[in-house]
Amino acid sequence: MDATRITGASLGAARIPSGPLDKLAAAAARVAGDGALVFGPARDGSVWGWKLCEAADVPQSDLWERLVNTDVSPKELFMPRTEDIARWRDRLRNLSIAEPAAPPPVVVLGVRPCDAASFDLLDEVLIEGPFSDESYRRRRGATLLITWACGKTGPACACDAFGLAPAAAAGDLMVYPDGNELLLSALTPKGLEVLGDLTGGSTAGEALTGRVDAVAAALNAQKTAVGRRLALDDLTANAAGLTATLFSSDIWTELSPRCLSCGTCTYVCPTCYCFAINDEPRGGDGRRIRTWDSCQFKEFLSMAGGHNPRPSKVERVRQRFMHKLNYHPERYGKFLCVGCGRCIVSCPVGLHVAEVGEALSRAAAAAVSAAKGGE
Ligand code: SF4
Ligand code: SF4
Repeated sequence: MDATRITGASLGAARIPSGPLDKLAAAAARVAGDGALVFGPARDGSVWGWKLCEAADVPQSDLWERLVNTDVSPKELFMPRTEDIARWRDRLRNLSIAEPAAPPPVVVLGVRPCDAASFDLLDEVLIEGPFSDESYRRRRGATLLITWACGKTGPACACDAFGLAPAAAAGDLMVYPDGNELLLSALTPKGLEVLGDLTGGSTAGEALTGRVDAVAAALNAQKTAVGRRLALDDLTANAAGLTATLFSSDIWTELSPRCLSCGTCTYVCPTCYCFAINDEPRGGDGRRIRTWDSCQFKEFLSMAGGHNPRPSKVERVRQRFMHKLNYHPERYGKFLCVGCGRCIVSCPVGLHVAEVGEALSRAAAAAVSAAKGGE
């Protein structure tokens, strides 16, 4: 297990009774800033997603005992499914362009560790990379993440395959269930401020920090159904020419006929970030919007003139898995997958990202072995 992906230094700890979380939510909202909105898991019909919580309907802590994870990832709080880039008025006479107002501060109460880790991956691409995404950057900067360690893994969880674990430390403040209590551990100065607000400044000493470490270690010892970690080195730079070898592997022609090109895997994924930009003119006025898109759609790379660099499912399925399992790891040193399991339960034909990763690892090992045999 890569310790850097599951542990985070605690800046302070506290314990609170389990049950109502309105005081925790209120403290976090005060720290997040004026007008902060608190979002928590909520069900819409049969689908669990994220909803604005008024003070009276902040979930109670037992929700996280019953719910493995939301069906909809919290990504949409930072990268909405559809958002305005700009609006224009009177284009033909006196053009004026208005950009969206600054987003309000947001508290996300109870993301799972895999989802909190997904934001670290997106931050590296969308904030720290060469092309900063202004909309995402502003929303993330105004956010306080409260992460809820998993007391049990679900049937589709695969966090351990990707170097994470059920209580991997991520976000601003970690919550660990501990009998009738909740242990809180601050990972960032914002998280520490929440603890200070909640406890009147008396965060605990070594004994409680030791208890936090013990509870986290016990939770992190849980295995998922996958239960094996994919080795990053197997799929990246260890072998010269490995990307080209995996790119031309027979795996893609074997797997791709099953894919329906429905795009579900990419829409539920917290680490997918493809989007499209469209203009919507209405007379002289209009708006430029960006919407989620999917590399699994045939039209995704269609160009004017009709050329399409990924014309068949072979290229599109390969793109999705190679991006997560080889291209991104080559560039950033991490898989672009946190093993949340959403695509695993949602894919109608059962294409399983950890299983594809294992198949690719075997193909990579065979290529390395063949190269050594030829030396
Ligand atoms: S690829 Fe699948 S398991 Fe990995 S983060 Fe995306 S939805 Fe979750
Ligand atoms: S969810 Fe499955 S069938 Fe649909 S596009 Fe993704 S891999 Fe293909």
